Amino acid sequence: MVFTVYNSLTRQKEPFQSLQAGTVRMYNCGPTVYGRAHIGNMRAYLFADTLRRWLEYRGYAVQQVMNITDVGHIQADADEGEDKIEAQAKKENKDPWAISRGWTELFFKDLQALGVRPAMIYPKASDHIPEMLEMIDGLLAKGYAYQVDGDVYYEVGRFPAYGRLSGNKVEELDAGARIEVREEKRHPADFALWKSDPRHLMKWKSRFGEHGFPGWHIECSAMSRKHLGNRIDIHTGGEDNIFPHHECEIAQTEAFTGQPFANFWMHCKFLQVDGGKMSKSLGYVWNLDDIRARGFDIRALRYCLIRGHYRAPLNFTWEILKESVSALSNLDDLVVRLRNASRGMGASASAEDGLEEVSDLIAEFESGMDDDLNTPRALAALFQLRTAVLEGRLGVSAAAAALQFVLKANSVLGVIRTEEANLAAEVEALIAARQEARKRKDFKESDRIRDTLLAQGIVLEDTPQGVVWKQKG
Ligand code: AMP
Ligand code: ZN
Repeated sequence: MVFTVYNSLTRQKEPFQSLQAGTVRMYNCGPTVYGRAHIGNMRAYLFADTLRRWLEYRGYAVQQVMNITDVGHIQADADEGEDKIEAQAKKENKDPWAISRGWTELFFKDLQALGVRPAMIYPKASDHIPEMLEMIDGLLAKGYAYQVDGDVYYEVGRFPAYGRLSGNKVEELDAGARIEVREEKRHPADFALWKSDPRHLMKWKSRFGEHGFPGWHIECSAMSRKHLGNRIDIHTGGEDNIFPHHECEIAQTEAFTGQPFANFWMHCKFLQVDGGKMSKSLGYVWNLDDIRARGFDIRALRYCLIRGHYRAPLNFTWEILKESVSALSNLDDLVVRLRNASRGMGASASAEDGLEEVSDLIAEFESGMDDDLNTPRALAALFQLRTAVLEGRLGVSAAAAALQFVLKANSVLGVIRTEEANLAAEVEALIAARQEARKRKDFKESDRIRDTLLAQGIVLEDTPQGVVWKQKG
């Protein structure tokens, strides 16, 4: 079977092949650390995580790098304006370094809560200023960049492939909506590699002056090159990264190295909330604490964000999250039932029964994932497996094979509860919390806990011996 991915660069699905057999070098655009990551950002990180897990399932060693942008990302992705981190620092009357440090820590906690596998390294932009300056020097020497006082710009007209990724044409990129005209630029689409500004709080000395800082795009070119080399296999981000960010990264890296940069560019579609763009003014910018505050497990959010295809529109609503809770509890239940059937409980008479159906469903899961990470197709195969075990079609051997497979499939999905002991411990903890709430006469809370358990298929019964629980059959 061949893993096929949609390449934004060629606008078609292509068989995946790595530069070096058995290894994948992948760079994911990471957060700009000036605020709490929202669930839209999480969609982008979970897409990268699923991709990495699928590559590992297929036997590749993945060298994954995700950057932390802690300087140089100007509001509206432009050259002129305020640095996002400094603007936040001023708002909070704090040091910009403290701002980026604090949000970076929380970013890691959020990734951990979501069960994202850690990248090989999370390089910080501010730790890579010499590598950026080296590239800027090279681009100047090769005539791709020009200096105006303390600023250095990339001259897009010098790079004929500029626009290949986004479909934008240099001649059409005039004084457009997102690109502001500066007289010192030779063309409105030229972008900053280095800016001088004594008022900027995070600044470095260079041959261009005492007080300078890098452009956002050069950061990713330099960090990717430093940690993964001149050429990489895959570069990912959200769809907003295609232009200008990734277009500019390609122009910088390829002009500097003289080699193709990433072979595959993959972008996830934006998450919407309640049918619209996530917007601070409308209050629809949910983060992990909002999810917890409404009584949801972060595991349910993970499921909710990966169950749709990464290139399909995804609209987040609380209703959909609730549906995810019950779909996920069916997957948890699948494991319980397969475990039971593999021990003879609820299994069909002959051990061999259902072996063929199981192997067909395994093939369906794998070909779904091989088809550009089609998670809905892959998940549908798991739900069919549940029907097979519910209807008693699987014998002991088929159930055991299916169980092994579901555990392996979960190394990619990372959402199913597979441990017998964990389930009991979590349920017992919730029951204890419910008893506490009842003692306090907080019946709203005790009902909420009961409903949470019910949504996971756990029914509570009050008996003279205390509360007992069982899974709905
Ligand atoms: P930022 O911190 O704004 O630089 O964004 C970090 C990552 O999240 C980038 O790869 C963005 O493309 C991605 N991203 C931002 N908003 C969304 C969204 N609503 N849906 C999916 N990805 C997003
Ligand atoms: Zn980037």
